[in-house]
Amino acid sequence: MSAEKEMWMASARRIVFSSPTSGPDRCIFCQIVTRNASSNIVYEDERHIAFLDIYPFSRGHTLVCPKEHGETIWDMKEGEIAELFRVAFKVSKAVVTAVQADGFRFVQNNGEAANQVVAHVHVHVIPVKMEDKGRFSDRRKFTPAEMEETAASIRREMAGS
Ligand code: AMP
Ligand code: ZN
Repeated sequence: MSAEKEMWMASARRIVFSSPTSGPDRCIFCQIVTRNASSNIVYEDERHIAFLDIYPFSRGHTLVCPKEHGETIWDMKEGEIAELFRVAFKVSKAVVTAVQADGFRFVQNNGEAANQVVAHVHVHVIPVKMEDKGRFSDRRKFTPAEMEETAASIRREMAGS
């Protein structure tokens, strides 16, 4: 780490977590990376993984994560952040096409105060249909078969992109 970055890290305000999910040993997303927890994975490369959100706001709601554990975006280097969003950009195209949405939201929460529940950096890709415009939809629950079907169609779009 550069001296400049070290100084910035030391002086920066700490992003607060009291959540018991903090730390790689107890982190559910690290467990998904190592396949110690199941999930509907839609994309993976050497440094990233993307999988369906278990309590989605809409069909196709996907989380894109760096595999390396870090709590917030402040734990990442600039180049890593750029890479993460490059992957999220590709995932957004696959998700929107797969579920025939009309738009999408990127959401990226940092810290408990910002409603970050899982303390492992992630970008939400939330597809939105025109009929849901302006509506804050409730969390949805799909059957395991529906989740897998959605994941399979996103994987197909990722492979074709
Ligand atoms: P955030 O509030 O930004 O920390 O979002 C964390 C997201 O992770 C929430 O939308 C949860 O529904 C989702 N989530 C929690 N556990 C899992 C899991 N095991 N598999 C997939 N998504 C999960
Ligand atoms: Zn983790």
